[in-house]
Amino acid sequence: MGSHCDDSFVSSVKIPTIKFTKLFINGEFVDSISGKTFETIDPRTGDVIARIAEGDKEDVDLAVKAARDAFDHGPWPRFPGSERARIMMKFADLIDQNVEELAALDTVDAGKLFSMGKAVDIPNVASTLRYYAGAADKIHGEVLKMSREFHAYTLREPIGVVGHIIPWNYPSTLLFLKISPALAAGCTMVVKPAEQTPLSALYYAHLAKLAGIPDGVLNVVTGFGPTAGAAISSHMDVDAISFTGSSEVGRKVMHAAAESNLKVVSLELGGKSPLIIFDDADIDVAAQLALVGILFNKGEICVASSRVYVQEGIYDEVVKKLVEKAKAWVVGDPFDPKVQQGPQVDKKQFEKILSYIEHGKREGATLLTGGKPLELGGKGYYIEPTIFTDFKEEMLIAKDEIFGPVMALAKFKTIDEAIERANKTKFGLAAGIVTKDLNVANTVSRSIRAGTIWINCYFAFDNDCPFGGYKMSGFGRDSGLEGLNKYLHVKSVVTPLYNTPW
Ligand code: NAD
Repeated sequence: MGSHCDDSFVSSVKIPTIKFTKLFINGEFVDSISGKTFETIDPRTGDVIARIAEGDKEDVDLAVKAARDAFDHGPWPRFPGSERARIMMKFADLIDQNVEELAALDTVDAGKLFSMGKAVDIPNVASTLRYYAGAADKIHGEVLKMSREFHAYTLREPIGVVGHIIPWNYPSTLLFLKISPALAAGCTMVVKPAEQTPLSALYYAHLAKLAGIPDGVLNVVTGFGPTAGAAISSHMDVDAISFTGSSEVGRKVMHAAAESNLKVVSLELGGKSPLIIFDDADIDVAAQLALVGILFNKGEICVASSRVYVQEGIYDEVVKKLVEKAKAWVVGDPFDPKVQQGPQVDKKQFEKILSYIEHGKREGATLLTGGKPLELGGKGYYIEPTIFTDFKEEMLIAKDEIFGPVMALAKFKTIDEAIERANKTKFGLAAGIVTKDLNVANTVSRSIRAGTIWINCYFAFDNDCPFGGYKMSGFGRDSGLEGLNKYLHVKSVVTPLYNTPW
């Protein structure tokens, strides 16, 4: 069983008073039209943190109207890029000044590690804003060399009103991967955070106003997917939708877009990413990569290395190391700096993961370690780091995205076998390769159908590196300049060269 902290741990971090619980529309915090609210829950205890305004279709209509007016008549798309950049830089500075409070909000709401939020996630959000602020005054088209006597060029123009729908596993990071490039492009937007994790998005809306982002540019409607989320994806006045979440809901979003105004859609969806470890790998490094690849953020990460393939020559040694490391992995209160894994986001996710573990046992995979909930004072949604071996790609634990601390491990002989098994999935988000052999690394990188390949590393994200899926992991790219281009239309402008009638 995975070790865990003493459950008498008392956090020295001051859990913030929840200041923002209402919808943010046209620069104001407002109640929902229905007056309804919903609970957001602390996964460490199952207790209610706060009641949040529950937006529905009528609230989305108001938010879209505000965004539409701000786009059609407001200053944001008309500012020089340098002015948008100046305001975005100020927004980033305000985030830096409130790092602790923002990190604490994501910890109480999502069970994420506070130390990681404070040192990495929240500072990175500010750096994402700065990255795209740096691009805001460098958006331009090209002069074209036409085959006939025309002068022609392209313009890049903001795509319009954008709907951003966000999942709960990275409430801050994923929000800023979407709003930062859209702001730089000159778009206006309506954001719907996940119902499990609405707290930080509302706080960021407050900071955006303080930074000087004009009213109506950034609106936040908290609420549920089938109501508020569906109202955004089917809205006739939303020009584009950028969705991150499950493949199942991605399909619904695309359907709603098709049935309404054929808005531009980009989908960042689920994954079942393979990590392939070859015989020449350093065993300790490989085992560490594999373990962190599945346990980071308690396995609630779309690129988790949930299928690990190890070549037969080092298989037994890697398995031994993995089990040792999994047993030493510290699960507990995410405010405790010693802890490596906090609680799963909510009861539903906790029960879903445990039911996949039961499936794994029934399907005939061998449970190497873990497999049970962890009792920390009888509260919270904690699960032991869990490793299955001898899995087959046909099993549910290898086919479905579990989104929890559950690894499926298998042995392979040849490079061809590894490639074939790694590709035997409906997903194509990421893959990892551990080898010192450049030829093997190059061959496998080109053979795996996935949007990101990490060689001798994992989770190596960067603002400059495009990120997105193949197959049922979606299409479109966040991050990098690709992530900016998806918020820009290309317009071609053509005129005769010599004023010749034609
Ligand atoms: P989800 O699909 O259940 O929900 C995502 C968002 O969609 C939420 O805000 C939800 O309220 C909303 N939603 C639900 N039903 C909707 C509907 N009918 N119309 C419009 N919106 C609706 O996903 P989740 O459980 O919040 O997050 C986990 C999933 O997100 C996993 O599959 C994970 O792989 C994926 N994910 C992908 C990436 C990526 O970049 N590819 C990153 C993080 C998470």
